[in-house]
Amino acid sequence: MPSGTASPTPSPITDHGGSGPYDVAIAGAGVVGLAAAFELARHGARVVVVEADRPGSGASTVAAGMLAPGHEAHADPLLRELGLHSHRLWPSFAKAVERVSGLTTGYVGRGIAVLATDPGEADELAARASERAVPPPDRPDPSSQGAGTPGPGAGAPGTGASGPAIRRAEQTGLAPADPAPHRAGSGVELSDAGCGVELSDGGFRDPVWLAREDLPAHLAVFPGACGALFFPEGGHVDPVATVRALAAALAASGVTLLPGTRVHGWRDEPAPGGRRLVAALTTAGEIRASWFVLAGGVYNATLAAQAGFSLPVVPVKGQILAVEPPAPVAAFVRGQVPVFGGSVYLVPRRDGRLLIGATEEPEAGYDTGITLGAVGRLATAAQRLLPELAGARWLEARAGLRPGTPDKRPIIGRAPGFVNALVAAGHYRNGILLAPLTARIVAVLCAGKASGRSALPGSGEAVIPAHWLEALRPERFAQAPPTAS
Ligand SMILES: Cc1cc2nc3c(=O)[nH]c(=O)nc-3n(C[C@H](O)[C@H](O)[C@H](O)COP(=O)(O)OP(=O)(O)OC[C@H]3O[C@@H](n4cnc5c(N)ncnc54)[C@H](O)[C@@H]3O)c2cc1C
Repeated sequence: MPSGTASPTPSPITDHGGSGPYDVAIAGAGVVGLAAAFELARHGARVVVVEADRPGSGASTVAAGMLAPGHEAHADPLLRELGLHSHRLWPSFAKAVERVSGLTTGYVGRGIAVLATDPGEADELAARASERAVPPPDRPDPSSQGAGTPGPGAGAPGTGASGPAIRRAEQTGLAPADPAPHRAGSGVELSDAGCGVELSDGGFRDPVWLAREDLPAHLAVFPGACGALFFPEGGHVDPVATVRALAAALAASGVTLLPGTRVHGWRDEPAPGGRRLVAALTTAGEIRASWFVLAGGVYNATLAAQAGFSLPVVPVKGQILAVEPPAPVAAFVRGQVPVFGGSVYLVPRRDGRLLIGATEEPEAGYDTGITLGAVGRLATAAQRLLPELAGARWLEARAGLRPGTPDKRPIIGRAPGFVNALVAAGHYRNGILLAPLTARIVAVLCAGKASGRSALPGSGEAVIPAHWLEALRPERFAQAPPTAS
């Protein structure tokens, strides 16, 4: 049975004079807000999560749940580095959530594959097999090249970066050390090794090119595949199960979760070094806290505007299908390795469902309707990849709004002008992947200083690498003031 109450240990959260019962108030119970609340509570903070609708009612329960740092962040070495570190946190994060809640997250860590559907694509993908998983250690200081600019040479072949990168992670407390949850529970036990996340000596494992004749049975079922680029650093979770487990873990950890409660404004006052949020104004009244976290997904732009600053978070609609796969597809489902191929991806869930995703419709704005055109395109592309899917039984279609940003990187850090407000926004296509790492960063920033340096109980001194904070900070989108002539 799950058990647990608020930790009796003193709160590690930096006090900003909030006089309420909470150290941290989080607006939004998507995977980002829920994971941050879990991480904060694990370290003894008193947390409230305010959710306008139901937990996970935004993008989080629409997501396919792929953890695909190598492929999704192919063009952005910094995002890939964040994704790889967050992916490494997933097994222990899932284990902790499952232990406290007694519920599964559906985590599987058997990699992901990108299928080549013609010889040209095969050449291109085979060439990518020489990419290193993470950028080289001799990355120039990002402050000298402008925020958001990937370091030159990042991800270049043959740089042998993996070892130093993982050593740095261990030194910084971001390596997947045992999270040492301090509450008992009877969750599903997942050992890291059992999930296929085996660490080689060097650290992150590089992608591997598999020619047609080398494809394992679960990938050989795709008749048109000339080969596949396999990313051992990858996996998937069930986002619906994850949200359910997180919500239960919060309840068992003494976190207050307020569904059906909308934040519609903020009360603030002057403070040394800026302004200080005093209370979130909600449909259930004022909620006071020492720290406030804006985790409203695509609605973070509104939450920020209500506090008087701007955040360029925009909706990117995605539609996705779920089917019951027919018997001839069983080998693929058993393999539990999601594939990208043609214009779709297929994700075999642990519960036997198959997801077919997803559209990218930035022009749709805030609309979340299901369209026949999208359903038809996804179904056709999936059958082109795997003709046996013609016999798949229809389950459902979902649509959600990915929180997009101009540089496709999340926005995590201190809200401009505020001493006690954080933004955790703009996770776009990778919010599920990046949830554990975002939660860790939020907890460290709430507990410590703007430098990302803090002493979290159980973590020793956790230091978020400065180049991450620099690349993710909300101010990176601010217009430079006109230069005086
Ligand atoms: C089709 C599709 C497929 C995807 N596939 C993947 C994938 O495979 N892997 C991956 O990593 N990511 C994937 N994503 C992206 C992922 O879903 C998002 O990045 C992630 O869910 C964002 O989480 P969030 O918590 O920031 O936002 P959300 O999940 O949108 O949560 C925000 C919450 O804030 C609440 N809220 C908003 N305003 C207020 C307010 N004023 N007061 C109180 N509460 C408020 C909302 O009700 C909502 O519950 C996919 C997305 C889509 C649409």
